[in-house]
Amino acid sequence: MDIDTHTTRSPVDDEALLDRLFRPMGVDGVYARTHLYENVVDALQRLISRHRPDDAEVFRFPPVMSLRQVEKAGYLNSFPQLLGCVCCLHGTEADISAAVNKAKHGADWTCETTTADLVLSPAACYPVYPIAAQNGPVSARGLIFDVSADCFRHEPSRDVDRLQSFRMREFVRIGAPAQIATFREQWMRKAEAIARDLRLPYAFDRASDPFFGRVGQLMAANQIEQALKFELLIPVRAGGAPTACMSFNYHREHFGKTWGILDDSGVHAHSGCVAFGIDRLALALFATHGLHLEEWPRRVVDILQLG
Ligand code: 5GP
Ligand code: ZN
Repeated sequence: MDIDTHTTRSPVDDEALLDRLFRPMGVDGVYARTHLYENVVDALQRLISRHRPDDAEVFRFPPVMSLRQVEKAGYLNSFPQLLGCVCCLHGTEADISAAVNKAKHGADWTCETTTADLVLSPAACYPVYPIAAQNGPVSARGLIFDVSADCFRHEPSRDVDRLQSFRMREFVRIGAPAQIATFREQWMRKAEAIARDLRLPYAFDRASDPFFGRVGQLMAANQIEQALKFELLIPVRAGGAPTACMSFNYHREHFGKTWGILDDSGVHAHSGCVAFGIDRLALALFATHGLHLEEWPRRVVDILQLG
């Protein structure tokens, strides 16, 4: 894969990125974010908003979503290893006190918790399909959404580009197959223009999701063969392989069937999404242009309206 490069500088060292942009919170891949970093995150969010399609409906989701909805979407068949569930102490005052007493004696109290029927959202677009389904048949124009959420994936790692908790922004298209194909092609071109504007070295590649287990390997191979997922990769870790910072996904009629999203003639709608890994994009900017905003190319500062 060839990286289309606009800079001659080699990426900033991973440790320097971690030190300057984050503060530890006691767990790998979960960090407090500095003002310097969040400024760039906010600027990226605003830049993406300026590219929002005019007719997009906007939703900002909380970091949790319904356990039942995630089950129904098939997440447990595909990525059970990544899911985080919310569990709480339930029961009477005596039950809860007994669990707290366990903690006081150094014993494991968490085994007394039971599900709160919530999971930590694994991707920003999952909650939008049941909402779309409530609006009745999809018109010939189709639907488009701008969504975001704090996402969780259980992948503890010390790699600066693999966080357990990260921000994801997405544009989601629902409609006929040709509409999804056009949307995806347009967004791959726009993403390329954004990467160029931001002077980020990049490459596109076909990709697969990290499906679980042996059956998952077949699903991943199928996904690649059918070109259902593309990623835009940018070098983030000095000396490491380039990192997927955006993805362009075609789900076929998976969510249409799951949630009964139909077109006017009763056919299941298709869907696709473009996902921006906001934290990875912010890291890519710092890795590429350095840790001092004053040294970033003027054009990048202007486009992000950071000046
Ligand atoms: P996908 O659903 O395609 O796996 O993820 C969408 C986007 O979220 C990715 O292209 C990436 O930018 C971001 N993302 C996925 N996993 C992680 C992660 O572990 N850490 C961070 N910072 N971003 C991630
Ligand atoms: Zn999505």
